[in-house]
Amino acid sequence: MPATYNGVGTLYYGKRNRSVRIAPCRSCGRVAHLESYDTRLWFVIIFIPVLPLGRKRIIDACPACTRHFVAGADEYEQARQLQVSAAQEEYRRSPSPLTALKLHGTLLAFHEIEQAESLRQSARQKFPTDGEMLVGMAAQLGQAAVYEPMAELYEAAHRLRPDLPEVRVELALRRIDSGRLEEARKLLDFLEAPGAARRHSLGPLDTLALHYQKKGRHQEALEIAQHLLDELPRIGQIHRFRAFVARSEKALGRYDSMLPARAFPQRVLPR
Ligand SMILES: [Zn+2]
Repeated sequence: MPATYNGVGTLYYGKRNRSVRIAPCRSCGRVAHLESYDTRLWFVIIFIPVLPLGRKRIIDACPACTRHFVAGADEYEQARQLQVSAAQEEYRRSPSPLTALKLHGTLLAFHEIEQAESLRQSARQKFPTDGEMLVGMAAQLGQAAVYEPMAELYEAAHRLRPDLPEVRVELALRRIDSGRLEEARKLLDFLEAPGAARRHSLGPLDTLALHYQKKGRHQEALEIAQHLLDELPRIGQIHRFRAFVARSEKALGRYDSMLPARAFPQRVLPR
């Protein structure tokens, strides 16, 4: 980032090809009007630009924390044209869920949000039953912090492919966020099957159990904790897990704890 000291240093001057989108800043997380534009970096003396140091593309400048990405403006424009037209050409030549996904990702990478949206519409008409394509596009939207259409795509993908674990996890985490814990638990039922830890991360169950506890639903919190303990016996020695279980057991007045005896010494155990 440019900086000046006593008016001597570097500064950006000018804003061309400006675009603004509302999205969470990757740095501070606040939702803000992120601004992208071409500018020129100058060497300045007493804030007077004296030496041009090249055109830059400022990407997603956040008004709250001022963090942003920088690219060489010419290189950025060249890369944008090359990659977007290559992906468009490929999709035109052989339209498939995979080439649609590639084009969609490329458009999002270069902040062509509206083009990406119209591609989604046409690709969904062309491949109406391809749940995997929807999941891929949803993941790309998540990476680009375009969350509204992402949520809608995950819901649509779930209607087509209710079996896909990553979709169930995505939807469950959203249900948890909005306090719909029963729905979340149903979506995560595959993680409560015996042996689930061998094929999946049980992290979402951990999150669910925490939310049950926070709501005072200690019975459900302990049911899930018992399953976590069965699947991953080593967590029985982890302090955070033990404290979690103890809290709910105490709330229910249970004195025969599910927790194993504490092993010693604690500090050599993997966390
Ligand atoms: Zn920020």
